[in-house]
Amino acid sequence: MEFLDYPDTLLLIDGAWRSSGDGRVMPVLNPATGRTIGQVACASQTDLEQAASAARKGFELWRAVPAVQRAIVMRKAASLLRERAVPIARMLTAEQGKPLSEATMEVHSSADIIDWFADEGMRVYGRIVPPRNPAMQQLVTKEPVGPVAAFTPWNYPINQIVRKLAAALACGCSLLVKAPEETPASPAALLRAFVDAGIPAGTVGLVFGDPAPISEFLIAHPLIRKITFTGSTVVGKQLAALAGQHMKRASMELGGHAPVIVASDADVVLATRFLAGTKFHNAGQACISPTRFLVHNSLRKAFEGALVGYARSLKPGDGLADGTTLGPLANARRVAAMERIVEDALRCGATVATGGHRLGTEGNFFEPTVLTDVPLTADVFNNEPFGPIAAVRGFDDIDEAIAEANRLPFGLGAYAFTRSIANARRISQGLEAGMVWINQPPTPFPEMPFGGVKDSGYGSEGGPEAMEAFLSTKTISMMA
Ligand code: NAD
Repeated sequence: MEFLDYPDTLLLIDGAWRSSGDGRVMPVLNPATGRTIGQVACASQTDLEQAASAARKGFELWRAVPAVQRAIVMRKAASLLRERAVPIARMLTAEQGKPLSEATMEVHSSADIIDWFADEGMRVYGRIVPPRNPAMQQLVTKEPVGPVAAFTPWNYPINQIVRKLAAALACGCSLLVKAPEETPASPAALLRAFVDAGIPAGTVGLVFGDPAPISEFLIAHPLIRKITFTGSTVVGKQLAALAGQHMKRASMELGGHAPVIVASDADVVLATRFLAGTKFHNAGQACISPTRFLVHNSLRKAFEGALVGYARSLKPGDGLADGTTLGPLANARRVAAMERIVEDALRCGATVATGGHRLGTEGNFFEPTVLTDVPLTADVFNNEPFGPIAAVRGFDDIDEAIAEANRLPFGLGAYAFTRSIANARRISQGLEAGMVWINQPPTPFPEMPFGGVKDSGYGSEGGPEAMEAFLSTKTISMMA
């Protein structure tokens, strides 16, 4: 099912949509067919220089707009996104692969995030500190940090930008995003909503191209005051080091490898109902996807059976086709990675309970897969699969499960299922993770902090903590 109206994507620099200075483009492929559906402009060095200058100009204009007016523009952009949700979701599915229902949900939840931050911008308070000398007045104020460069990935092309953009704009910052070349049209549609809502030129900008030279250029650029990245831990460490060299503030939302602890007193039906859907959402290409299933040995067979049943009930296919519940992987690299993961697990002694192979010869399809009896030496129990693979192993003692969950350097999302308050406390306090969900699916709502610990990064993309990332503190002390 080819999407014929898929648009070519241009750069957004200083409020204008334009081709790159040197005319360079990259093809965009539909992951369901492997065919080229469009192209995206790749920024030249001159384009990047102009984009950074425009971000500075946009920052000066936007920071002067009162928060209440900024909120009006942001709310207008959110409402345009909702109005345009149907065509935007279609282009998101065409370039990324996820089922249309998931793409539609992504557009609407992104609009909700913008609304929440629009209001939060009106609550950026400072404080008055009682002075030691009565002739003094001491104020603590919060100011926008300045123009921000954001680097975002292809798994949630709109949502991953919105989490950064909405908070940055609410604080009065401008934001220049290097969005994913593989999924460029839906990010452009997002930024178009802000342009159409009347945001001053330069306040939002969009570039594409070779990720490494662009990030090296923008992180070092003196006009850029803050960077924010979502992607793999490997790349995050490189960008964080670069940010350190140039003394730039940085937020890093990196890879995870979410453990799931299903305790002996868990409700297995509830656990599989919540976890199976979460596991295969976006074909497992989510940083908080449950990936390491640690199930008490007394429940293991029942749990595995239910998970396999769910995996077999999924309907893989083109995300634009009716009834599809599992889309293709976003790019061919991920299919090759899934094949390697399964081969390695088998070599280490795991069992493939269902799936394990690529599907068909066209597009990037991989079977929903459940691996059982997975030894700790298998790659899948050490590196995030980032695909539709669930790896299960048993445990006997809850402390053993907590220790296993904490064994890896990652610490983003974590899940547990138990009926006991004692276990819930022990697990939630013992897990080294930025987010712990107990007896429920994840809730990445804008009002809740979202971020990791250890190699999963630092900084938060939700709640008031997300605003802190884009604010600097100024101490003002004056004598009358
Ligand atoms: P990758 O590490 O090459 O790229 C990850 C993301 O970083 C991509 O969006 C890419 O464009 C960007 N990137 C790469 N090098 C960069 C650089 N020097 N400067 C700026 N941006 C750069 O891996 P990939 O094959 O695209 O994705 C696979 C892995 O990435 C997954 O295994 C997963 O761990 C991670 N990932 C994480 C998230 C997330 O939500 N945290 C999203 C996408 C990918």
